[in-house]
Amino acid sequence: MTRTVRELLATERPTWSFEFFPPKTPAGEEQLWTALRELERLRPSFVSVTYGAGGSTREGTVAMTERIAADTTMTPLAHLTAVDHSVAELRHVISRMAAAGVRNIMALRGDPPGADPQAEWVAHPEGLRYASELVELIRSVGDFSVGVAAFPERHPRSPDFDTDVEMFVAKCRAGADFAITQMFFRPEDYLRMRDRVAAKGCEVPVIAGVMPVTNVRQITRIVQLSGQAFPPELADRFAALDGDRPEDKAAVRALGVEVATDMCRQLLDEGVPGIHFITMNRSTATREVFTNLAAAAPAVTS
Ligand code: FAD
Repeated sequence: MTRTVRELLATERPTWSFEFFPPKTPAGEEQLWTALRELERLRPSFVSVTYGAGGSTREGTVAMTERIAADTTMTPLAHLTAVDHSVAELRHVISRMAAAGVRNIMALRGDPPGADPQAEWVAHPEGLRYASELVELIRSVGDFSVGVAAFPERHPRSPDFDTDVEMFVAKCRAGADFAITQMFFRPEDYLRMRDRVAAKGCEVPVIAGVMPVTNVRQITRIVQLSGQAFPPELADRFAALDGDRPEDKAAVRALGVEVATDMCRQLLDEGVPGIHFITMNRSTATREVFTNLAAAAPAVTS
């Protein structure tokens, strides 16, 4: 039986994990499995699979986590969102995940479907309104280890930091074992949030979400999709290297790896419970950051 993230965090810190999304095409499927197999060699603590806005990618999350549980040595963490699902449908998906051997679920509200993640959020008439309710539902269905989302720069819809931290702590108290943050680019944002959460007496471990930047266009997408800021001085450093020549692209990637490595080192020095890499279904940049960290920290096995 695979271990739970709760058990992993109790026995091996920091945890190392990688995030993937269900591909939409056969070529994407091939790329994903190449990346998964390459990253499997790094013996991650767990790997997570995101939940799409609808249709086939949702089926893909269950199928992919099932295959990871059955065909690889890795522990899967399945994301699940409340978007467009009734409670009965959510129960059904959770039961299918259990039957597929999945013991870890990320409980997320999800963003409104469509191109604009900042559009108005409308709950399903027979569904749930907040992630905290999904945490409770998952707990009521089975013995899962449940994770929730955290936002170092606060959730874009939260009016202020205090409200955001209050809601986050309430979500943890609903039954979460761990949290994973939205990607961020300034360690101080993570540390400030961690201190605010700790000040409320909440001890749920908050794993840091890290995405190595591999091209400059990505930066605009990051800001649009996550609602989190990208530090202007860092954006300038990437823009200065941008160009069409292969050596320009290589220079941008190298800077992305360097920036992510530096941030991870600072976070590890600060005792972060785990690092969660957002891979975009590619392995190279993540492997490079991991190898850099392994060179410095004997606890990391590459
Ligand atoms: P919630 O915790 O419900 O919070 C949403 C907003 O409501 C916040 O502003 C919060 O402060 C507020 N709030 C919460 N409870 C209450 C209350 N009781 N009263 C008033 N206000 C309240 N999206 C996907 O579609 N698929 C994925 O696989 C996915 N994976 C993710 C993984 C990570 C690590 C992260 C950080 C995000 C992920 N997301 C994913 C995006 C996520 O679904 C969105 O950011 C979404 O907008 C918020 O989800 P949540 O679970 O934090 O919501």
